[in-house]
Amino acid sequence: MATGREDRARATMESIAFVRPEITPRKQVPLRSLTAIYDRDRYLCRYCGRATVCLPVLRMMSGLFPQQFPFHPNWKADSCHPAYSEISTSNDHVVPVSRGGDSLDETNIVTSCAGCNYRKSDLLLEHLGMTLQPIEHNSAWRGLADMYRPLWEAAGQPTLSTNDKTWMRLTDALYRET
Ligand SMILES: [Zn+2]
Repeated sequence: MATGREDRARATMESIAFVRPEITPRKQVPLRSLTAIYDRDRYLCRYCGRATVCLPVLRMMSGLFPQQFPFHPNWKADSCHPAYSEISTSNDHVVPVSRGGDSLDETNIVTSCAGCNYRKSDLLLEHLGMTLQPIEHNSAWRGLADMYRPLWEAAGQPTLSTNDKTWMRLTDALYRET
């Protein structure tokens, strides 16, 4: 297991090496926790309420339609469809880790659209006049995560990264009959 110090060092290196100013560095929350949190929140941004679309599905769509729906691995603004920086599903620590928030406590982690994630940055909600939206338990929205495997099959079952294979296994367990 990486120590917190290693995580911070990695985050710092990533912010120097890869992350452009409009991108919030990824937190190292396990995928199993993330899929559970996103499912809990119905893939709705807990800050602005809008429906997000999960990243593996967006990337699958970019693989199918690279011209119409471009993707850049570093989310370069001029080479990446704005859906990535605005409505892709991300997670945010309500109390930022830099302000003492627990990095792995699922009650401190919420679904956030990428746009709100960037705007909130490492501030507290009260700094921004933002409030946490309640979970909409009755919403049927699942960020298209429930469509991941059908989309992958429609795309001709392209080779998936290890992370994406894990994502598919976890979302299969949540959304598909076995
Ligand atoms: Zn939002």
